[in-house]
Amino acid sequence: MTIHLFDVATLRPLAGGEVPTLCLVIVGEDRVIAIDAGFPVSVFEDTSLIGFERHFLRLRRTPEMALVNRLASIGVRREDLTDIVLTHLHSEHAAGIVDFPDATVHVSATELAASRSRSPRARISYRSRFFEHGPNWAPHDGAEEWLGVPGCSYVTDDVVLVPLPGHTVGHCGVAVRRGDRWLLHTGDAWYRDPLTGFDASFPLGLYERVVKADGALQAQTWRTLERLALRPDVDTISSHRFPPRLPISLADTTERSSR
Ligand SMILES: [Zn+2]
Repeated sequence: MTIHLFDVATLRPLAGGEVPTLCLVIVGEDRVIAIDAGFPVSVFEDTSLIGFERHFLRLRRTPEMALVNRLASIGVRREDLTDIVLTHLHSEHAAGIVDFPDATVHVSATELAASRSRSPRARISYRSRFFEHGPNWAPHDGAEEWLGVPGCSYVTDDVVLVPLPGHTVGHCGVAVRRGDRWLLHTGDAWYRDPLTGFDASFPLGLYERVVKADGALQAQTWRTLERLALRPDVDTISSHRFPPRLPISLADTTERSSR
């Protein structure tokens, strides 16, 4: 099993520098699994597809960053990607599923239900156009425990959907087993430095506080993450922040160093 780390979208919030969007790809014997899907190629070609968010995210026309093209760079074809496990359904994490219509898409059942709600919050938070092609949804309710966290779902023996709600009501982290350690992709659950505990600076610190579905759940999730990050057998990585030391190397290191 090989784990690749890709930056699938460079976001450029006003006065906020450049912010990565990090996905993991696990290449196993008989399955290839992506943790989050980024944007599809079509969004890089036409950013109006993501509505008002384009004014905040300010994507460049870089279709080579789309997951389907990142996979091609390591010799993985579109049809080889069997499973996508989503932290949540915000566009920059989930819209890319349209490039993989045959993959099974794992997500928390709570998150999927929230995205289908017609509430004002859902309309602002989710872009339903990316979910209308008949994805092979695999909603998870979570009845298992992982490292003391209840409500988890084992997608495989080595990939676990871990509820970390607050940013959205069904937001999850995804834990990937690496030998006797775990790599936990924490999505948008928090951006602080897991080693120092320092709060994230602008723009992520602001985003963390402003964009949350439930503040009490978010506070509870942060306590869970503080406990997990202190474990010697857990490394964490979040969607939009390169930590001081990456737990695994970025698959496109050449391109990253040239940016
Ligand atoms: Zn989000």
